[in-house]
Amino acid sequence: MKNLIKDSVSGFKTLVVGMRLTIDQFFRRPVTVHYPREALKMPERYRGHIELVRDPETGNSLCIACKSCEKACPSDCIFVEGIKREGEKRKSPTEFSLDFTKCSLCGSCVEVCPTDALRFTKEYNLASTERSAYLYDLLRRLEGQKK
Ligand code: SF4
Ligand code: SF4
Repeated sequence: MKNLIKDSVSGFKTLVVGMRLTIDQFFRRPVTVHYPREALKMPERYRGHIELVRDPETGNSLCIACKSCEKACPSDCIFVEGIKREGEKRKSPTEFSLDFTKCSLCGSCVEVCPTDALRFTKEYNLASTERSAYLYDLLRRLEGQKK
């Protein structure tokens, strides 16, 4: 009988503590979101895959196809080709591809670029079982963003 009363008191105490914690959490602001209907804003320093930056004056890529990023990449995942068009002072890219399957997000390409033509995206919503889904044509991507 004595043990039964002791157990009941202990059980009641545990219940009160649990309820107090539940009520306490109930009135706090949630730290979770209803993904995918809601998404978190990525922090400033977040690194998604790289992308080309547009020249605000011409609307074209700031890239001059110097290949510095291609040479600086330790994972060999950038490929750039470019030509100097008639009447233009600098080269412009004709091909700019990224194999994101090999990218370590080290940032060497972004740092070495002499024209600040590369930056990290805030893209995190990537999921595929196909390797080809991570091979990006960054020039075409930039063109697509014009629309
Ligand atoms: S972040 Fe690093 S690994 Fe990724 S493309 Fe740039 S240089 Fe290569
Ligand atoms: S380093 Fe910059 S300018 Fe040179 S090819 Fe790469 S993105 Fe273009």
